Amino acid sequence: MGVKVAKFGGTSLAGAEQFLKVRSIVSSDEERRYVVPSAPGKRHENDRKITDLLYLCHAHVQQAVPFDEVFRIIEERYANIVAGTGIDLDLAPELRNIKERIAAGASADYAASRGEYLSGIILAKLLGYDFVDPTSFIHFDSRGAFDAESTQKAAVEVLSSHERAVIPGFYGRMPDGTIKTFPRGGSDITGAIVARGVSASLYENWTDVNGFLMADPHIVKNPKPIEVVTYRELRELAYMGANVLHEESIFPVRAARIPVNIKNTNAPEDTGTLIVGDDEKAARAGSITGIAGRKDFTVIAIEKALMNTELGFGRRLLSILENNKISFEHMPTGIDTISVVISDCQLNNKLEQVLASIRSELAPDSIEVHPNMALIATVGQGMANTPGIAARLFGALANAGVNVRMIDQGSSEINIIVGVETGDFEKAVNAIYDAFVR
Ligand code: ASP
Repeated sequence: MGVKVAKFGGTSLAGAEQFLKVRSIVSSDEERRYVVPSAPGKRHENDRKITDLLYLCHAHVQQAVPFDEVFRIIEERYANIVAGTGIDLDLAPELRNIKERIAAGASADYAASRGEYLSGIILAKLLGYDFVDPTSFIHFDSRGAFDAESTQKAAVEVLSSHERAVIPGFYGRMPDGTIKTFPRGGSDITGAIVARGVSASLYENWTDVNGFLMADPHIVKNPKPIEVVTYRELRELAYMGANVLHEESIFPVRAARIPVNIKNTNAPEDTGTLIVGDDEKAARAGSITGIAGRKDFTVIAIEKALMNTELGFGRRLLSILENNKISFEHMPTGIDTISVVISDCQLNNKLEQVLASIRSELAPDSIEVHPNMALIATVGQGMANTPGIAARLFGALANAGVNVRMIDQGSSEINIIVGVETGDFEKAVNAIYDAFVR
């Protein structure tokens, strides 16, 4: 029998009804032996996340302002969950203790972590699973950096003595015993640590969407979900702005080659998106996995006759960027031309300074600046070694009347990036989607 670790996000645990859905999901598969909950999230758009309210309590104490009212909202949320799930649990002593500690000046990390802690207590009771506090195996060093090695060792030891357990997400402990949280959204990391610690056959990440979509639904109407994606494809899509799991949050399972399944708590029968190792996906030749893009880039295009014979030209250009603390995204080159694509947030107001240095240090024949560029990445393992992909892509853009200003294809052949005018961005994404998917 395999072991599955199921992590449930904030919207999956936003109220009693959601907790009950989680129970039916967990109990429908006896391999789901380890469960990692987030704190209750928003029930509707104008609702508040418990984690935000807990940070707010802490901020009140810092400013010496009473926080009873905010804390009461938290108490009510949990009381409703306990009552609505019908479990026999009195959280009052826990809540009293938490309130006292926050009032006495406990850290922001302590305050924030209590959202997951209380979710964990409720869920353990609801499922009849052991409650395992993550401070018993998730370790940070004295500077606050996550200690992967000692955590992994302790996770194996601690979790092996629990047949079935609920482990709150988001936090662990420092060497002095104080609570330390991961960055926001960090319950994903806890889930991945647990999955690795129990050598899970699958890490399920339950959210409120049916997995990742092939394109941004704000741009493409009803984009299809991605069924299978590799880590490398995911990285390309995330880098280009797709709203997917943060790659860092799943590094423990990636290292252990544990597949991740993104699932929807509100539609558990949907298959969701499966994330697999880079060599495990059998992609259909000619297919793409997804399209993602970002706006707000500037291209600096430099021309100089016989540039190719001038030793160190590229290095000097990049040193100018480095000295200005600017990192660049792409560098397409020709024989006598070289361009750098820079994100506007990197460039800030340093453009004039950079141009002046390029003029004085490199003496180019011309420099052109193209602002308002958008980059679009078409990503997919199925593109590699398949003739005709570029033709299809550029044909689609030409038919849509989109002028391509820049082209870049990574050497792994799983990614073609095109630069277009910002005004053409949406049109271009739709043209590519239609050409490959519809
Ligand atoms: N509750 C935390 C947050 O809101 C962590 C998580 O949900 O993953 O960021």
